[in-house]
Amino acid sequence: MRGRRFLATLNSVTLDIGRIRRDFPILHRSVRGQPLVYLDSAGTAQTPQVVLDTIDGHHRRHHANVGRSAHTLAAEATAAYADARAVIAGFIGAADPDEVVFTRNATESLNMVAHAFEPAAAEGDPRWRIGPGDEVVVTEMEHHSNLLPWYELCRRTGATLRRLRLTEDGRLDLSALPIVIGDRTRVVAWTHVSNVLGTVNPVQSIVARARAAGAITVLDGAQSVPHRPVDVDALGVDLLAFSGHKMCGPTGVGVLWGRAELLATMPPMLAGGGMVADVGANGFTTLPPPARFEAGTPPIAQAVGLAAAAGYLSGLGLAAVHRHEQRLISHALDSLAGIDGLRVFGPPDRAGVISFVLDGVEAADLGRQLDRAGVQVRVGRHCAAQVCERFGVPALVRASFHVYNTLADVDALAEVVAAARKGAV
Ligand code: PLP
Repeated sequence: MRGRRFLATLNSVTLDIGRIRRDFPILHRSVRGQPLVYLDSAGTAQTPQVVLDTIDGHHRRHHANVGRSAHTLAAEATAAYADARAVIAGFIGAADPDEVVFTRNATESLNMVAHAFEPAAAEGDPRWRIGPGDEVVVTEMEHHSNLLPWYELCRRTGATLRRLRLTEDGRLDLSALPIVIGDRTRVVAWTHVSNVLGTVNPVQSIVARARAAGAITVLDGAQSVPHRPVDVDALGVDLLAFSGHKMCGPTGVGVLWGRAELLATMPPMLAGGGMVADVGANGFTTLPPPARFEAGTPPIAQAVGLAAAAGYLSGLGLAAVHRHEQRLISHALDSLAGIDGLRVFGPPDRAGVISFVLDGVEAADLGRQLDRAGVQVRVGRHCAAQVCERFGVPALVRASFHVYNTLADVDALAEVVAAARKGAV
């Protein structure tokens, strides 16, 4: 009997959250005299000791520029940077580390792709040409970082922006897929997980439709890669963007992953040192990817720290991280459902993100009340003005989880929200 129970535990890999919390020094500080309850991981996730130590160790022992000098420290830094690329490739199931481009953040990764498209008359791979009559498809739930770059592209080239709309329960209206994605579509860009609604969007069905139309597919993985197993091969997208600071890594580093054959012809956004093969009196030729997309000194220590974060999350197991966050979100939905006058946005089956408004209490005021109790949430439009407009609300309170959160954190949130409601009636 005892043996059988032990096996069941092994199969479902129960995480020891108490031990995990000890890995994150910041979780032990207080806020306004209260224990910290950190519920803004969709904004920026906290950093475990191993990442802090790795970055510190890199600066103490191997700090130098990469790919430029032959001295020992430069060689060590170059090797560490290359190792980080290989770790990140493995983390997302990419076969080739050269498909991983280090950027500053997901926003830069997405801009890099939108910027790669050039007017129809330009030379080169026709997949990177776009003009009047062509269409760019996004969705109504995009973060501004996966919307504004496409606005800019359309403004620059005369292409038309189209949107996949939202249903009342905060899902993509997939019934419109055959209408919105068609022969004129050149690129489809959408988020894997909504940073406001928590909606987990389909990938394969959208990829299939886009591919049939001959369009390039771009997935914003900022809210998925840090929380669940993501395998670029299984997803089938052409390009994937995400940020280091949302996956327990440092700020200042992000990733653009792209299929090797597509990156091979993708024009770079930035020109400068580190990306050139040859420079003449009138021009230059570029190095192959990923160097072609990493002009200037890259975020070296940050990439090394990001690899440590990927290693940390892989050590816990992304499937186990995901399961833990599912427990938290289900408890949050249950706890908040009991509060009179509270409206939650988005579908019940969702990632670890929950946004809501409370009758009689302004979102900003609720945020202040939560802060006074040590509970850190984000309040506002969450860089997704379209979502607020769709649901007719000026601002929402958002709580979001990561592996270090507990059911007690959720209870602390619900307690303050319930008290705020009581105070308002
Ligand atoms: N995409 C989504 C879905 C996000 O939630 C965010 C950040 O919140 C971004 C993109 C942009 O990330 P960053 O600010 O790290 O570039």
